[in-house]
Amino acid sequence: MDQHLATIRDEVFRRNPGEAEFHQAVTEVFESLEAVSRKHPEYAEAAILQRMCEPERQIIFRVPWMDDEGRVQINRGFRVEFNSALGPFKGGLRFHPSVYLGIVKFLGFEQIFKNSLTGMPIGGGKGGSDFDPRGKSDAEVMRFCQSFMTELYRHIGEYTDVPAGDIGVGGREIGYLFGQYKRITNRYESGVLTGKGISWGGSLVRPEATGYGAVIFTDEMLKTRGASFDGQRVSVSGSGNVAINAIEKAQALGARVVTASDSSGYIVDERGIDVELLRQIKEVERGRINEYAERANSKKVHFVEGGNVWDVEATVALPCATQNELDAKDAKKLISSGVVAVAEGANMPCTAAATSLFQDAGVLFAPGKAANAGGVATSALEMQQNASRDSWTFAHTEERLTEIMVGIHDRCASTADEYGVPGNYVAGANIAGFVKVADAMLAQGLI
Ligand code: GLU
Repeated sequence: MDQHLATIRDEVFRRNPGEAEFHQAVTEVFESLEAVSRKHPEYAEAAILQRMCEPERQIIFRVPWMDDEGRVQINRGFRVEFNSALGPFKGGLRFHPSVYLGIVKFLGFEQIFKNSLTGMPIGGGKGGSDFDPRGKSDAEVMRFCQSFMTELYRHIGEYTDVPAGDIGVGGREIGYLFGQYKRITNRYESGVLTGKGISWGGSLVRPEATGYGAVIFTDEMLKTRGASFDGQRVSVSGSGNVAINAIEKAQALGARVVTASDSSGYIVDERGIDVELLRQIKEVERGRINEYAERANSKKVHFVEGGNVWDVEATVALPCATQNELDAKDAKKLISSGVVAVAEGANMPCTAAATSLFQDAGVLFAPGKAANAGGVATSALEMQQNASRDSWTFAHTEERLTEIMVGIHDRCASTADEYGVPGNYVAGANIAGFVKVADAMLAQGLI
């Protein structure tokens, strides 16, 4: 990055101390922008970058709730409304003990460019809490969600800010959040949250969309080399919503997915993962991944406690767990085992060093803001259905998702070509996402 960009970045670091993940996300975007700032001096004059790195609004609040023993518990809630140049703030809520402002800001910053890339009219935001839903009863989760919404409701709305799920926030949590919003506001405002249940304003394909979209994107990358998913040996990390649906789609396209993981370890199933069984354990029973190996009861299946899923050889790797889960050491192992494509189903799962290693080795590499954009894009389709009081078929919605993912792929590829870095999907995604937001900010004046 040139001196001008480095100076702005250093100032962002100085203004936001101790937020390592946010710094990492900012650096990754800035590293793609040298050619953009040469081509568009008007962005510097309007301090577009400095403005883009400063959220429009940040809300931090107390979330008191009572556990099943009658004890008072306190968590911290966040909503960072990062950029509304293209539409209402849009992005998920993450409930996980690791959540603090730096995580929410990294996710919100990524979301600006991801949402821009989808081509849909949505700005960027993110929120969440350090609440840990693991081991909590349904009643505790409900009381927590009600308390969280009792503060959040005043900041959100169909035309203002539209949260959805992320790690630790799925259909159950969105249900409790929506119920409380409706009760407080006395409005059936479907478009205020996405990821809703299908009978009360949700969209078909939304639960599958992030995982399916990541596979569709990867398939488009493979096609540029005359390959496809057919016959690939795939490793997937995670066993949440993104991972399970990526596994399902990859196998539908003829791949054999051999791994899944959670924080306790990983499983290898040389027969190809049984998606039904995985769904039953993780989504219905909310159990642990070792149960898969126990119940599969086959010599071809084993569980590695506390192990690293990237030890398993694969030709395609889909990190679908969490940020910085795949480092340089893992990248080297995957490269030497012959990996041809890596796509980030999670947000920023590869460290900067791992990403560079993949790119230098000629591995097709898709950054999360492109590869996992299918989730938020389908959220935008849910908003469309809510606005028109309509509900689309699975086939129609999936067709729209596929069109959007192919569009994102092509936009990243053509932007990389235009800026002289062919095949570099990281640069393509950052530049294409950035330019659209920057132009909208210029047009809207100094706000
Ligand atoms: N949390 C998802 C993401 O990282 C989806 C956000 C949304 O649907 O608003 O993009």
